[in-house]
Amino acid sequence: MISVEEALDKVLSYVDVLGVEEKPILGCLGQIIAEDVYSAIDIPPLDNSAMDGYAVRTQDVRGASREKPRLLRVIDTVMAGTISRHRLGGGDAVRIMTGAPVPEGADGIVRFEDTDEYSREGNTGEIGIFKEIEEGCDIRRAGEDITRGIRVLSEGLVIRPSEIGVLASLGCSTVKVIRMPKVAILATGNELTEIGNPLPPGGIYNSNSYALAALVQRYGGIPEMLGIAKDDERSVVDCLKRAMSADILVTSGGVSMGDYDLVKNVLASNGEITFWTVRMKPGKPLAFGIIDGNKVNGIDKKLPHLGLPGNPVSSMITFELFVRPALLKMMGKKILTMPSVEAVIEDPVVNTDGRRIFARVVVHEENGRYIARITGPQGSGILSSMTLANGLAVIPEDRPGVNAGDVVEVLMLDWWKE
Ligand code: AMP
Ligand code: MG
Repeated sequence: MISVEEALDKVLSYVDVLGVEEKPILGCLGQIIAEDVYSAIDIPPLDNSAMDGYAVRTQDVRGASREKPRLLRVIDTVMAGTISRHRLGGGDAVRIMTGAPVPEGADGIVRFEDTDEYSREGNTGEIGIFKEIEEGCDIRRAGEDITRGIRVLSEGLVIRPSEIGVLASLGCSTVKVIRMPKVAILATGNELTEIGNPLPPGGIYNSNSYALAALVQRYGGIPEMLGIAKDDERSVVDCLKRAMSADILVTSGGVSMGDYDLVKNVLASNGEITFWTVRMKPGKPLAFGIIDGNKVNGIDKKLPHLGLPGNPVSSMITFELFVRPALLKMMGKKILTMPSVEAVIEDPVVNTDGRRIFARVVVHEENGRYIARITGPQGSGILSSMTLANGLAVIPEDRPGVNAGDVVEVLMLDWWKE
């Protein structure tokens, strides 16, 4: 049995950063940008007003005050999106809206609040200015946000909503990103029924494929549902043919002690097994191997295959610990580990057989400390305890357990406030 770290190293050594694709910007959230983006334009493109007010020549309003307003002649009104055809001469003002280009000759904006705009009745063709202003006052300079020619986004960044906004402001409709991994998901088990169908006696619904597909989506991959294979090699190999277009294959079931022959035989005759069983709980019967496309259907391709245990909790936890980092590596992400906190555990956990325990806990904050409480029975078939949890408390394999009040590391599945 190998350690969690050894298993993860093996998995990661078989996956690589994927290729680049160019996509519409809105489809790229969470992906890694694969090019440096330079601006072909100035943003804003022209000097424009930061306020609703009057564009003036600052020299004309020197000494203006509420008691002694300066009267200026209003020669035009400009809105955002139009350019005034007028040039300001001595004593002129242009009524200007936020975002409108500053007319020629003006060198400052006086806000409406500092004029008699609101007390003046009708259009008199004049405006009283109450305040002297500095040159450049309330003018947003051309290129002050982004200057033409500069690098705005660098290769390797994660695309967030703000990056999408910046790309749109440059007029880019598409961007090059590292493509999303396609993850083939296959359930195995004669007992499994597809959701939406009546449950036969002794049957259970295939829940793993859905929980795993949702995890794939959460971490930025594209799930490809291959359905359910029977507990026989032929049925699994048939499904493998459809898996070969994916970047990684995730199966559930068929790896526990009694069952292992299934996945083992499939891997043995269609590729190679890298490891089976990891020193962890739940999730011990995890299998990892490489499927050889040549053997499956004559395609020159090696497909990494994670054979997760069938128990619903084990399959989700082994996904978080092994599939998630593999997907993140393929997507070009730098940080592959789960976020973690140190928390005081409220319940004792006993470790009887020297495996690393990942205990389902709910973390909350109390007086500036994180407190972790066990969510209930920890059987690996008890999926409902997963819905109560927001983290996994780590009990090291070399400790006989932890006592209530001990500090433990908790890997966060969700942030505790959510
Ligand atoms: P296995 O690893 O195939 O021995 O399965 C272990 C346990 O997980 C058994 O109780 C299975 O019925 C259950 N199980 C396996 N696959 C699924 C699945 N896709 N959905 C829900 N439960 C499953
Ligand atoms: Mg099974």
